[in-house]
Amino acid sequence: MQSAASPLMPIPGPIDPVPVPRAVTPREDGRIDLMGLSRPQIKGALEEAGLDVKAAKLRSKQLFHWLYHRGETDFEAMTDLAKPMRGWMAERFVVGRPQVVEAQVSTDGTRKWLLRSDDGQDYEMVFIPDADRGTLCVSSQVGCTLNCSFCHTGTMRLVRNLTPGEIVGQVMLARDALGEWPKGNMGSAAIGANDADEDEDAPQYSPDGRMLTNIVMMGMGEPLYNFEHVRDALKVVMDGDGLALSRRRITLSTSGVIPMMARASEEIGVNLAVSLHAVTKEVRDELVPLNRKYGIEELLQACADYPKASNARRITFEYVMIRDKNDSDEDARELVRLIRKYKLPAKVNLIPFNPWPGTDYECSTPERVRAFSSIVFEGGISAPVRTPRGRDIMAACGQLKSASEKKSKAEMKRLAEEKQAALG
Ligand code: SAH
Ligand code: SF4
Repeated sequence: MQSAASPLMPIPGPIDPVPVPRAVTPREDGRIDLMGLSRPQIKGALEEAGLDVKAAKLRSKQLFHWLYHRGETDFEAMTDLAKPMRGWMAERFVVGRPQVVEAQVSTDGTRKWLLRSDDGQDYEMVFIPDADRGTLCVSSQVGCTLNCSFCHTGTMRLVRNLTPGEIVGQVMLARDALGEWPKGNMGSAAIGANDADEDEDAPQYSPDGRMLTNIVMMGMGEPLYNFEHVRDALKVVMDGDGLALSRRRITLSTSGVIPMMARASEEIGVNLAVSLHAVTKEVRDELVPLNRKYGIEELLQACADYPKASNARRITFEYVMIRDKNDSDEDARELVRLIRKYKLPAKVNLIPFNPWPGTDYECSTPERVRAFSSIVFEGGISAPVRTPRGRDIMAACGQLKSASEKKSKAEMKRLAEEKQAALG
């Protein structure tokens, strides 16, 4: 409960997090949303509401299972709770979901949802179906304070950290939308939860035929500037009695918040992706302004020190391909040199730049991307080119920006024009 009840939340400034008042509207009906809470937190909430320690322990176990393994939101359907207990819970608690403002489907099957929190903040999530997996791209913040010059999210004014409930809520909603909750009554299948690490080598989707197999923290926001909430949310997602996603199927992407990287390895333990994007100080300072605080060499050293990295679990370097900016043969050779210098178990993901309204950058030509990829590959490092997905619905990497924000800009423009007209 601690994070949901705290009046302050750490909102990142351009460089370091600063605490500002939490902008969460309490529910009008006074009930508590259990979504995103861990088992001990649910137990705490039940005790606060008046259950004794023993009852709270038992009920919290049952609730955890109903919430995260079964995806149930209605206390009345929780058949192993006595009827009066279901009513008692429904008076005090809810199991929430983010509100869906808009859902879109791309011609390539990618889906995007615009979601709204209880206090009216908008954020997006994207589902990317592939031949052998289905990846949910999850947001960690409303907007992002880091202002990378090539990223649409970085141009947003509004920023607040998403709560664990809002982060886990995205996964729950995706499961709802894909119809992927176990059916039937509380039988052995429901109780015998998967071992969270078991599905690591599953050749096709998950063994139980689910489409949502992977999660990437690559939506809106910088996850390591919302560390506690992202950690708590992912712990719930990985819990074997709940959603039971393996940590090997979860990837956290950071623009290079060095001081939080070791903690991410120890306390979350998921795969790491690092948004490198350039190999010289000059270019990375422009593309990823955080580079002025945490430089390339320091970042690569932090990667070399990342305890969870190994040949089996390589660090992914993301490299957005921008025409005449970072895509020369020399850049590719320097990238190889740097990765070798730090002896990193690494692969490079080449992401053709995804354009958005108002950007001056252009995507590298396909020939340039191929040439760059070959040089890195010949240097002994895997360097696949990521096919852009969902560009037609602005769902591709770096294109996310909430509609309310776009509207407010349009609104501002209209107001400015009205003002001009009144003056003129
Ligand atoms: N803030 C984190 C995670 C979210 S961004 C980070 O920066 O790593 C997910 C990925 O999309 C990052 O690698 C980011 O650099 C990349 N990206 C941002 N804008 C992009 C664009 N316009 N085209 C292609 N990739 C982009
Ligand atoms: Fe933020 Fe990542 Fe976009 Fe940079 S690339 S502005 S860190 S979301």
